Amino acid sequence: MSAEALYNDVFEKLERHHEWFNESIPLIASENIPSPAVREALASDFGNRYAEGWPGERVYAGCTYIDEVEVICMQLAQELYNAEFVDVRPPSGVLANLAVYSAFTQPKDVMIAPSIPAGGHISHGKREHAGTAGLVHGLDVEFYPFDATQMNIDVDKTKQKVERMVQDNKTPKMAMFGGSLFLFPHPVRELVDFLKGYNMHINYDAAHVAGLIAGGVFQDPLREGADTMTMSTHKTLFGPQGGLILASDTHSDDIKKAVFPGTTSSHHIHHMAAKAIAFAEMLKFGAAYAKQVVANARVLAESLNDVGFKVLGEDNGFTKSHQVAVNVLDYSDGGTVEVDLEKANIIVNRQLIPGDIKAGRHYFHPGGIRLGVSEITRLGMKESEMKEVAGLIRQVIIEKKDVRIIKDEVKQLRGDYQNVHYCFDGETGAYKYMRLR
Ligand SMILES: *Cc1c(COP(=O)(O)O)cnc(C)c1O
Repeated sequence: MSAEALYNDVFEKLERHHEWFNESIPLIASENIPSPAVREALASDFGNRYAEGWPGERVYAGCTYIDEVEVICMQLAQELYNAEFVDVRPPSGVLANLAVYSAFTQPKDVMIAPSIPAGGHISHGKREHAGTAGLVHGLDVEFYPFDATQMNIDVDKTKQKVERMVQDNKTPKMAMFGGSLFLFPHPVRELVDFLKGYNMHINYDAAHVAGLIAGGVFQDPLREGADTMTMSTHKTLFGPQGGLILASDTHSDDIKKAVFPGTTSSHHIHHMAAKAIAFAEMLKFGAAYAKQVVANARVLAESLNDVGFKVLGEDNGFTKSHQVAVNVLDYSDGGTVEVDLEKANIIVNRQLIPGDIKAGRHYFHPGGIRLGVSEITRLGMKESEMKEVAGLIRQVIIEKKDVRIIKDEVKQLRGDYQNVHYCFDGETGAYKYMRLR
């Protein structure tokens, strides 16, 4: 194919992707749909500029309006999270974590964090798993003991493990909370005094739950004793893809250096502007949005349980976040279920769940799937639609109905939910393809 044919082909595929998502039920827990306003900021000329350094102290000219927007962005983030210091520059959640590792630990230091089947993220991971903490910063990572019935970090066993580590001269320098499979608030309050007794730096990774924290419906890590909080700005927080670090003023100098020049040069200025827009939307609409997200997740979990699925976390009411985790081993495995649901335009991801590694199940065919309701909540869906979604999933996985029939039902359900809610300007269709050519 000629260059021009390939060029056209890219646009054709982009438009087809938009059409597909416009007729689908998007349930990836780490994703969301930003407002048309956020998308407009992303398409602006800010995306073609450099602004290394801090507002007012840049190394390039041309930053007049960029600086003004970045100051607004910081003000909004400080207000949203009631934080003294914010760095809005990290281009992603992984880079926010890397900056925090760099600011507060040295290579060879020990960090305690959740393992991946217990909900941890690969950016907290060991060197031998190519995790960012181990491979890139050289941290020696140890895992929290996890209680699979409670689906949470085991507080007593963690204390015992840390005491053994202290005796072995392996006292952690950093304790990491937060994760990617994240149903219930982590026991920060329960562990903070104990961990601080050994001078640990406590970071809370709010990548998944940042929008719930902003909306006041999850936990409040900075008030519970976390020293720093890192996050992605595009999961439950419905902004552009990006990262963020919050802290008290005492940590500001260490963080600023670790972000620039430590881990960024360009900080993706258009994303920074789009973060400001999303923070303003969150301040105005975040409480109502977050409340509906958590209510929807709970109903989806209960409905899936009612129609025959093994939903994790039953002892604690299945979920207190935007996520639902389901053990699908009665029917096949997470990888197969993911593929089957995609054929019916229901987009989910497979998920390692507690017990998988011991049973020899790996990432391609793990025992579970993870569902998130942030995006469909943003589209305006409420409790009754969650019941419909659970029914559609049952028809694909348990009844094994013809996926073409389910796909039509999915399209029909989505027909009534075409716009982004919880934003100032939601008239443009949520998945409308914006053409500039
Ligand atoms: C998604 C995620 C990240 C990574 O965020 P990116 O913005 O994709 O780099 C970090 N930590 C946790 C817990 C996550 O779930």
